[in-house]
Amino acid sequence: MKINENYTLLQENYLFSEIARKVKSFSEKYPDREVLKMGIGDVTLPLAPAVIEAMRSAVEEMGKAETFRGYGPEQGYMFLRERICNYYRSFGVYVDADEIFVSDGAKSDLGNILDLFDKDNTVLIPDPVYPVYADTNKMAGRKIIYIAATQSNGFLPMPSEKTDADIIYLCSPNNPTGAAYSTEQLKEWVRYARERDAVILYDAAYESFVEEKGIARSIYLVEGAKECAIEFCSFSKTAGFTGLRCGYTVVPFALKRKGVSLRNMWLRRQTTKFNGVSYIVQRGAEAAFSDEGLKQIAKNLLVYRKNAKIICEALRKLGIWYTGGENSPYVWLKCPNFSDSFLFFDELLEKTGVVGTPGGGFGQNGEGFFRLTAFADRKTVQKAMEKFAKVFS
Ligand SMILES: *Cc1c(COP(=O)(O)O)cnc(C)c1O
Repeated sequence: MKINENYTLLQENYLFSEIARKVKSFSEKYPDREVLKMGIGDVTLPLAPAVIEAMRSAVEEMGKAETFRGYGPEQGYMFLRERICNYYRSFGVYVDADEIFVSDGAKSDLGNILDLFDKDNTVLIPDPVYPVYADTNKMAGRKIIYIAATQSNGFLPMPSEKTDADIIYLCSPNNPTGAAYSTEQLKEWVRYARERDAVILYDAAYESFVEEKGIARSIYLVEGAKECAIEFCSFSKTAGFTGLRCGYTVVPFALKRKGVSLRNMWLRRQTTKFNGVSYIVQRGAEAAFSDEGLKQIAKNLLVYRKNAKIICEALRKLGIWYTGGENSPYVWLKCPNFSDSFLFFDELLEKTGVVGTPGGGFGQNGEGFFRLTAFADRKTVQKAMEKFAKVFS
């Protein structure tokens, strides 16, 4: 037996367990001090009433012989896939229900999609970014090239003709930086991918936070993207499904290489290795995208958006450089007086009790920066920013 040696290339300590450890020791040291958590990228508001109601009746159905359901379609029930098509249509994107694959979340699909690609492909990954892209490719032993997202390019790197890649990851609005590409900018990426026959893996987990006109909610707003891009999306951040689990991936019919349809490959992969998402959860997801559900989740999104505005306003007043927060629940700031984001983390926690995420944990170019999330209750955000102001003004 030989183990997959590639696992030894992965970093030992996962960022968030290290943070949890530091927070725990802070609480032990100062049992009377409040910890203000603005660190982890997880939602805090409960599920929408429409979702709960739909799942409750689905549970009832499962308890009666006439309406009981066993295995469902691996690709997801048509009622949900059609709802997702309607949702896409609401912002001008037309996808076929048979191009949509429902899953237990975007993270699984982002990892699993790599089954479709040979090991011998070069992967282009922005730095800093969601660590899943690099780690899943390291596990497979693929060659990775990083593209720098920096303050000078607004954390939105554009393609360079000098760089060649076969698989390109884009995450917009971005985790951790909150920076979001415009449709115009994505045109460049689509052109670049098409020229090379490369495939773009587009992570749109935060599309529902986009407010600004011209900022893309889907890569399929760009003509020709269906021939070169797979899009990953999720109910997690949009509808608070992080604990419930449901996502969807779009693999267009038009995406083919050497005459082989990637959509058909993905169908084959899913029908072999996946048995679908729980019927109850799919009914909940369907309800999230109903007229009523959409109104309810919009209310929650508004709470997060206002939190982001409070964070941004406080930083602006302090003269601290930041980006994000506009079309994203994340605010990405330049560590005041610190070049090491981990030392800044320690200092901030010690002086204010505020927990954020060190930018260095998301890649080399994240060093010197810090992520605060709007996924917290209003009181926490307000208190945190008041304390922040006291220490850094
Ligand atoms: C939270 C998040 C996801 C969503 O993952 P799920 O598995 O659907 O919960 C995907 N991509 C990014 C960048 C995220 O931050």
